[in-house]
Amino acid sequence: MNLFTESNLSPDILKAVGELGYESPTEIQKQTIPFILSDIRDLIALAQTGTGKTAAFSLPILDMIDETSRKIQFLVLCPTRELCLQISKDIKNYSKYMKDIKTTAVYGGSSIMDQIRSLKDKPQIIVGTPGRVIDLINRKALDFSAIHWLVLDEADEMLSMGFKDELETILSETPDTKQTFLFSATMNKEVERISKNYLTNPHRISVGSINEVKKNIKHEYYVVGYRQKKEALKRLIDANPNQYSILFCRTRMETQEVADFLMQNGYAADALHGDLSQAQRDTVMKKFRLKNIDILVATDVAARGLDVNSLTHVIHYSLPDDPEVFVHRSGRTGRAGKDGISMALIKPEESRKLKQIKSATKIDIVEKFIPTGDDIIKAQVGGVFEKLFTEHEEDIFEFNDSLIPDLSAFTKEELVHKLLQFQLKDLALYYKDKHDLVEQKFSSRDDDYSRRDRGRDRDRDRGRDRGDRDTRGSRDSRDRGGKPRRKDENMVRFFFNLGKKDQLKKLDVLDIINKATAGKSKKRAEIGDIEILEKFSFFEVEKSFQENVMSNIPSMKFKGKEMRAEVAN
Ligand code: AMP
Repeated sequence: MNLFTESNLSPDILKAVGELGYESPTEIQKQTIPFILSDIRDLIALAQTGTGKTAAFSLPILDMIDETSRKIQFLVLCPTRELCLQISKDIKNYSKYMKDIKTTAVYGGSSIMDQIRSLKDKPQIIVGTPGRVIDLINRKALDFSAIHWLVLDEADEMLSMGFKDELETILSETPDTKQTFLFSATMNKEVERISKNYLTNPHRISVGSINEVKKNIKHEYYVVGYRQKKEALKRLIDANPNQYSILFCRTRMETQEVADFLMQNGYAADALHGDLSQAQRDTVMKKFRLKNIDILVATDVAARGLDVNSLTHVIHYSLPDDPEVFVHRSGRTGRAGKDGISMALIKPEESRKLKQIKSATKIDIVEKFIPTGDDIIKAQVGGVFEKLFTEHEEDIFEFNDSLIPDLSAFTKEELVHKLLQFQLKDLALYYKDKHDLVEQKFSSRDDDYSRRDRGRDRDRDRGRDRGDRDTRGSRDSRDRGGKPRRKDENMVRFFFNLGKKDQLKKLDVLDIINKATAGKSKKRAEIGDIEILEKFSFFEVEKSFQENVMSNIPSMKFKGKEMRAEVAN
């Protein structure tokens, strides 16, 4: 089946699908549509949002639903209100030409009385969140005796949100004769248990591998200490102009904090997390869809159900514990045939976690350097031209040439320079006197490693060779506001005998430190700044691990080379 017209779906459905611009079925649709149309078995489908799974289950069910009956025949359960609204909207679109079919969405955070009233319309299809469905069952507002098809959508998410009891109650309230379809992005023990207990001899479908890694997404990571994380984020955003992105945080507090930081710094950003009221969440999502904000700072749960296809970037402000969540987050970009970029900020002590993610997902995540002020200006200039030539093809307003003063004294280039200086003035002033963030992060600077960078490195190395720490001392002891930076009493700074010439990278240093400090106790050493120079390096490690570093590093080797670390003076 390469085209929808080759499926056996009814003309009413094909017409609606055609109007939505769907021509050929997606992979999951190719597999589920013929199965659901012809088989009576239950189904487990591994597929994530964005694969077209809503149409995959609803099109064949709509094809078979009894339009003359006014009983509920088809129930979809999903984890969030947003997903619930999205699915019911999709089903309404697909059944646009089935005039007797009614679909009602029922979810928490909205008036139950209104929903009870809309159930009086006798819909054949209910899309609901588990908690609200149970409330409605208890109020005898739902009659499930004629249910024929039950879909558990994002089953893994419903279970991880604690809906286990609700699901079990609903599953046992519905007739044994129903056909159950379980959709999940991941397969874990809980999902397996539910399927074992409530599905009979299910057929299994999986679209590619679980959470298939998309090839059109570039993955980058940036190592940065906790204290510099927000400033590093600012630089990444500035170096990627015209972005439309979701920035993932781990906790609600972190989400709000990062969004506040961005807003205070003049970015069109906002926060989306569970501490906001439903109305606030709706407003934020609407603003994001309309591109009134272009950076959405969100928790993983809150971002579910937000169906946006044109994201340019995904930023992992904090790494998730589960590698699949990393793939899932990143997969929000690179949709609809476009390329995407996933950027992760990694704390020095997270090297092991990054390694785990790399090996579990087989994604090539490439180390990049926090952009310098120069990098940022270059990118911004590119951004101006990109915007200039892609956004407005036609003039928006009539321009009266008599308003333009005589510019004949300037060449075309001079005028462009002036306009760019004018446009980027604030940003350029901000970065003008700023030091590069993680200063000597040129461990494997690629081809554009400029002469200036090299010169600066060399000067610094010379200073170091002479034992002269002034350059760094004066730079390090002040923060951006010019205030003296407190020396961290808990950390020890080490001199390390390997450097760039030995192909040493930051991640290698993290690995070496982690190995040297791994002891019987679970406590991990805190790692501070890492500075890789041409011939040697410096790193900071928590004081209580000083002995481990001193005694273990000499017994280890890096690419066959002896290693030595001593306390830097
Ligand atoms: P879903 O995985 O159901 O959230 O769908 C992801 C997106 O793909 C939605 O915006 C759908 O409207 C769209 N979509 C679903 N099936 C197709 C198809 N066969 N062709 C084009 N777009 C589709």
